[in-house]
Amino acid sequence: MADEMRKIGIVGAGQMGPGIAHVVALSGYDVTLYDLTPDRAVRGVEKAVLTLDRQAASGKITETEKTDAIGRIRAAQTVSDLSDMDLVVEAATEDETVKRKIYATVCPVLKPSAILSTNTSSISITRLASATDRPDRFIGIHFMNPVPVMKLVELVRGIATGDPTFETSKAFVASLDKTVTVSEDFPAFIVNRILLPMINEAIYTLYEGVGSVESIDMAMRLGANHPMGPLQLADFIGLDTCLSIMQVLHDGLADSKYRPCPLLVKYVEAGWLGRKTQRGFYDYRGETPVPTR
Ligand code: NAD
Repeated sequence: MADEMRKIGIVGAGQMGPGIAHVVALSGYDVTLYDLTPDRAVRGVEKAVLTLDRQAASGKITETEKTDAIGRIRAAQTVSDLSDMDLVVEAATEDETVKRKIYATVCPVLKPSAILSTNTSSISITRLASATDRPDRFIGIHFMNPVPVMKLVELVRGIATGDPTFETSKAFVASLDKTVTVSEDFPAFIVNRILLPMINEAIYTLYEGVGSVESIDMAMRLGANHPMGPLQLADFIGLDTCLSIMQVLHDGLADSKYRPCPLLVKYVEAGWLGRKTQRGFYDYRGETPVPTR
């Protein structure tokens, strides 16, 4: 465990929050998971329990490690449950307005020494920091999905991020047995600056009729040795999150090469956001995923 850190709050119990809770609790920290409603937070805790169960069943962790970790995760009833956190990881919807609202609610309850971090995939850390009462204790801690499996965490400093915040966050990530890569605060940082244009291009390839969903995914799995096809990966990330990242790249770098594919926009407008809504480039409602185009 990193020094001076015991209690970790997580805001947002969607796809990422429970995975972060899983890893953080397994490393010995007490975790409080907060979402819009206590119900959502409880469902998030249940998801973390499920993935811990799976890791124990496959022998990756012991039954005792699992039980101890589960005992350290709780669902928040109200935002004031975050008042004694040493570090909060905000992992809510990839939307700057949502994040700003969250900081306005969360900052007043945090203790002055608490570090506030964001798991944002693309939004400027410097700009988000300016919406808080603690820009020097604000930082990007960007986990990869699925958090229990992926080894990398990107650390992103805003202009005002203090050295102690950076060093404490680095030690925290190391204590989770993850490897840190440091990125400058430019749109989408390193991983998504490279990954998302590739996914967007795959969607253009589909949009222009160059290939079907299956042929595009198979091409990249077998032809480029990617573990997942780009459309399958887009569904896994969440198509709303993909679109939001492309918009941040397009707005932030003002280059037409980052123009979000109109077909991606259409899927998001339909509410077909990928796995989390059971439909995206594939339909996940049956036994096996079926391409939707
Ligand atoms: P998600 O849509 O699955 O979940 C978002 C959660 O935020 C929901 O549970 C929602 O109820 C909650 N939320 C919304 N407004 C809230 C509020 N005011 N207060 C508290 N909770 C609120 O999103 P996700 O995929 O888990 O992504 C979360 C963050 O992690 C985003 O910033 C995203 O860019 C980043 N991220 C996502 C991935 C990925 O592959 N999905 C990977 C790395 C980082």
